[in-house]
Amino acid sequence: MLSVVPLPVIVRAPSKVNLHLGVGDLREDGYHELTSVFQALSLSDDVRFADADQLSVTVRGDDARAVPTDRRNLVWRAAELLAERAGRAPGVAITITKGIPVAGGMAGGSADAAAALVGLNELWQLGLGRAELSEIGARLGSDVPFSLHGSTALGTGRGERLLPVLARDTYHWVLALAKGGLSTPTVFRELDRLRAEGSPPRLGDAQELMHALASGDPHALAPLLGNDLQPAALSLAPALRRTLRAGTDAGALAGIVSGSGPTCAFLCADAEAAVAVGAELAGAGVCRTVRIAHGPVPGARIIDHETEH
Ligand code: ATP
Repeated sequence: MLSVVPLPVIVRAPSKVNLHLGVGDLREDGYHELTSVFQALSLSDDVRFADADQLSVTVRGDDARAVPTDRRNLVWRAAELLAERAGRAPGVAITITKGIPVAGGMAGGSADAAAALVGLNELWQLGLGRAELSEIGARLGSDVPFSLHGSTALGTGRGERLLPVLARDTYHWVLALAKGGLSTPTVFRELDRLRAEGSPPRLGDAQELMHALASGDPHALAPLLGNDLQPAALSLAPALRRTLRAGTDAGALAGIVSGSGPTCAFLCADAEAAVAVGAELAGAGVCRTVRIAHGPVPGARIIDHETEH
């Protein structure tokens, strides 16, 4: 009998920045209650899925050596979960090309997991809908549903319950990537420690920020960006203060630590300003490298072979 080998599938998955990250109290299950306004950015990973006898993961790109290629990789677990659901063997060769910094507070692992759900749904012709993929994604990590969703969204719970947010126009960002990474659980623990000492003030709600997003004016949005994890990230990595200052000195409208850090995200007035701020930051010696990005962009999606990174 003639068997047809399916063509490889390539999926592009976006990074995210939290425009607002409100961290509530520690819940009984060990998670914090979060209110997060996410925006998906054009800085992305490409993940290729090719038919194979066995499950394997290969990682390419800048930070490749920092990424596990075994069961600790979220794509491995995504493949196992989907295969189990489909009642088939998880045979697939997965190649991740990292564009998103590793342990950088930009949900790189979640992006790859979302890519795996979309890519394997296609390669294995499973016919699962977005809602089902999102439900499986939430079991892999709190940010995975947003990596599937993309655009701009409000997340509550652990960040996995999503509502779309209207964001008019495109926002232009400069990202300052740091040398090492910060572990997300360590940053949350540091915040708990700082709060036990009584120090950092908490963000209010995100209403005003959502109004600014609907207006499409980056000048209105800039002063409303906020991240409750920022004092904890700065406490663990004090050099980030200099990075944040350098970005605003270079002309950014505002700078924040992205999620749990250590990436710093700078909102700029327009695309031209982002190029100028990026060039100045790159020369200031306050980060490992600089990337320019825009958002919102769609969630994990299949792309043509010609457009792969
Ligand atoms: P978040 O913003 O969701 O808290 P992050 O962006 O700070 O996460 P990730 O890049 O997702 O951090 O990686 C955190 C850790 O997860 C890494 O140190 C790595 O060991 C592990 N990891 C597992 N799978 C992946 C993956 N596909 N890409 C990157 N890291 C991965």
